Amino acid sequence: MSTARRPRVLILGGGFGGLHLVRHLERRLGRGEADVALVDRSNYSLFTPLLYQVATGELPPHAVAYPLRVPLARAGFRFVRTEVEAIDVEAHAVRTADGDLAYDVLVVALGSETNDYGIPGVAEHAVSLKWMEDGRSVRHRILSTFEAAAIERSAERRREMLSFVVAGAGPVGVELSASMRDLIDHTLRGIYPTIDVRREPSITLVDGADRILPAMDARLAAIAARRLDRLGVRMLVRTVVSEIGPTSVRTKDGRTLPAHTAIWAAGVRSIPVVAQAALPHDAHGRIVADAFFRAGGRDDVLAFGDAAHVEHDGKALPQLAQVAVLEAPAVAENVARLLRREPLRPYRYRRKGDLIALGRTSAAAELVRPVHVVLSGLPAWTVWRTNYLIQLVGVRNRGTLLVEWLLSYFSRRIVTDIS
Ligand SMILES: Cc1cc2nc3c(=O)[nH]c(=O)nc-3n(C[C@H](O)[C@H](O)[C@H](O)COP(=O)(O)OP(=O)(O)OC[C@H]3O[C@@H](n4cnc5c(N)ncnc54)[C@H](O)[C@@H]3O)c2cc1C
Repeated sequence: MSTARRPRVLILGGGFGGLHLVRHLERRLGRGEADVALVDRSNYSLFTPLLYQVATGELPPHAVAYPLRVPLARAGFRFVRTEVEAIDVEAHAVRTADGDLAYDVLVVALGSETNDYGIPGVAEHAVSLKWMEDGRSVRHRILSTFEAAAIERSAERRREMLSFVVAGAGPVGVELSASMRDLIDHTLRGIYPTIDVRREPSITLVDGADRILPAMDARLAAIAARRLDRLGVRMLVRTVVSEIGPTSVRTKDGRTLPAHTAIWAAGVRSIPVVAQAALPHDAHGRIVADAFFRAGGRDDVLAFGDAAHVEHDGKALPQLAQVAVLEAPAVAENVARLLRREPLRPYRYRRKGDLIALGRTSAAAELVRPVHVVLSGLPAWTVWRTNYLIQLVGVRNRGTLLVEWLLSYFSRRIVTDIS
């Protein structure tokens, strides 16, 4: 590391990991101790756990987008809005759409992207739910389909038009399905009088695993399955999607499901920039990092969040916001230690539990500490809402969230089709 100038710390990605890293670095580093810059293609950090609420009109987009320049300016760090194109670890530089950025310490927190597993038709015909534009696209698809169905005379044709298939019964697919049903039953019912909203729209949730929420506690999954069943969401488990067409979804066992709208929520993979960096990778293209977050044992490149394979009890940590947020303070600590040439501290993951929203007044929650409990119904719903009000960064975002939740609950959801 050069001694004449201040060391340069370059953070790639301002999502959950990058944003929380900045907040912790602000506390850990002395003013002027390093030149810190963060690069992201968006000038906001997206709060993905609530993106499905943008898709279903419960929240406006700006409620779940926190401006990255606010914490960076406060900390005296730099923000660069550009596309990262390649990481050159030998040259200690990152190639971007607007030129190269040199670093002394690089932190990779570039997240992941939607994985279509090479299934034909996913990219062409399905909408995914990963980025802000996706949330808006899903809402547009729902509302424009209802508008078209409202002027369709044939009930059979209306049923076809209003067929929705959600592929992937992880938390995103489950929360989205429950919320879509609520949108239809509580807001759209009153304003589309020519549609029989109870019988004509259908939501089918499909997953290849033998139960919904396969990565979560079985008790949570059972609560969610009961709730979705009561809401009228059809669940097809042990069902693998083999192809998506313009108006249907084909499954490996030979079924064709009507799907005027197919929503893909079936998993993520590494982004090309991460998968192509000259660093060790796991089978999924994630950068292998040790307990100190060092990529391939290097002292100048750290990786965490979705982009990294960090092990706990011999298994890679899951690609979750919870993981990235919990890792961030430990990464900040080790960045400060690297700059000061102090020994690094190993990280140990302590899982908090899982939360899953199941519509207007229901949720399921598994809390690990102080006691291990599973909650359902209103208590879980209260924990869920309180948790996200606390987790969301920024007074303005929290205020918007609270007001919009109250409006959606007591008045109606956002049904203007502005894309
Ligand atoms: C719809 C949805 C709901 C989810 N719900 C939950 C949940 O309830 N609980 C939970 O724990 N996890 C949830 N997750 C997972 C969670 O979002 C991720 O695990 C988390 O975002 C990972 O954080 P990260 O910092 O590694 O990546 P991200 O938060 O994805 O941040 C990556 C950042 O890098 C930027 N970026 C990427 N590529 C480039 C590039 N080439 N150039 C410039 N910038 C780039 C992106 O704009 C982004 O800001 C959800 C994910 C989705 C998609």
